[in-house]
Amino acid sequence: MQTVADDYQDIRDAVRALCAEFPDEYHRKIDEARGYPEEFVEALTRAGWMAALIPEEYGGSGLGLTEASVIMEEINRAGGNSGACHGQMYNMNTLIRHGSEEQRQTYLPRIASGELRLQSMGVTEPTTGTDTTKIKTTAVRTGDKYVINGQKVWISRVQHSDLMILLARTTPLAEVRKKSEGLSLFLVDIKQATQSGMTVRPILNMVNHETNELFFDNLEIPAENLIGEEGQGFKYLLTGLNAERALIAAECIGDGYWFIDRVTKYAGERVVFGRPIGQNQGVQFPIAEAFIEVEAANLMRYEACRLFDQGKACGAQANMAKYLAAKASWEAANACIQFHGGFGFACEYDVERKFRETRLYQVAPISTNLILSYVAEHILGLPRSF
Ligand SMILES: Cc1cc2nc3c(=O)[nH]c(=O)nc-3n(C[C@H](O)[C@H](O)[C@H](O)COP(=O)(O)OP(=O)(O)OC[C@H]3O[C@@H](n4cnc5c(N)ncnc54)[C@H](O)[C@@H]3O)c2cc1C
Repeated sequence: MQTVADDYQDIRDAVRALCAEFPDEYHRKIDEARGYPEEFVEALTRAGWMAALIPEEYGGSGLGLTEASVIMEEINRAGGNSGACHGQMYNMNTLIRHGSEEQRQTYLPRIASGELRLQSMGVTEPTTGTDTTKIKTTAVRTGDKYVINGQKVWISRVQHSDLMILLARTTPLAEVRKKSEGLSLFLVDIKQATQSGMTVRPILNMVNHETNELFFDNLEIPAENLIGEEGQGFKYLLTGLNAERALIAAECIGDGYWFIDRVTKYAGERVVFGRPIGQNQGVQFPIAEAFIEVEAANLMRYEACRLFDQGKACGAQANMAKYLAAKASWEAANACIQFHGGFGFACEYDVERKFRETRLYQVAPISTNLILSYVAEHILGLPRSF
């Protein structure tokens, strides 16, 4: 059930048809084995969905963020988890918008064909957390190379990607006018890096999500792998982060509709005290409330994507869409697990898996508190709190 209409039914139908080949059992088994949905991501790649944002001249389909968000939404709505592959979507914009023509020519056609994957982005560090401009990983230029030293944490899909976009400090914090200056983005060849100074240590976590600690010990990368201008990386990163927030909002919306579809069906069928549990208003209302919130979040997602696709500022909308969608999907998850009673905890119903998966989005890629603080300061004009 959905009342928010859009013009993307063709995309929805095609992605749904592909997802139908990977039913609940597939995702459940991958989750149980803590595996990676390799066949699923491969099928998405072969069908061209992972190259949606790549311009046609580089072998992609030249679609916008709106369409990309519909693809991600449909994966989650079908019971899958876009977290296995969404990195390619939000990283792509950084390369397309800020990479050089040479970088675009070198990488985009190979990413579009599926030969290379650009699934990882290395920003977060263990000692600085959300305070990104304080990161301690450094990149020092020596001749035609940059030498990287430092540490990252929670860097996802490194083991299933060929390329990573890495944020490092190129000018010490003490020497810049604004703390957001002096940070740079680099394109890192992951396989090469693991053989010459980058160590990857997996982090087991609550969700079946491949994520890692990274250690850089004099990793040398070619100077030509710098994205855009040295020192401007933080600005470029924000474009990617706005895309990431809008895409994750769409994934939460997909989750939200999944939870509501499942719980509505279950509540209509499960008979206790001689009537369907869904006949009780105590059961109906939390489901109806979550549905309303998912639909409202959906509208804000379209607004964020629309502005992004028009090249307009969309920080406020992308953050608010992510906030609303993550909250709505969590409300829907709670209603879904609650009204499945004990069965909500049985793995074969998939509710507990999706419940764990959608919970992540209250924390990553940006926590709810940080969105509230962004809105308070940048939109409402309240005094800066940190
Ligand atoms: C499964 C997973 C995958 C991830 N993948 C990636 C990835 O691929 N690449 C990457 O770079 N990062 C990744 N992350 C990191 C993620 O973006 C961070 O965990 C997230 O941004 C929060 O940062 P933190 O964990 O350092 O929390 P902290 O910054 O330590 O914050 C901890 C808590 O304190 C709150 N808090 C902090 N400061 C304030 C304040 N001023 N006011 C109010 N509340 C505050 C926060 O809201 C948060 O709830 C991933 C994380 C997870 C869990």
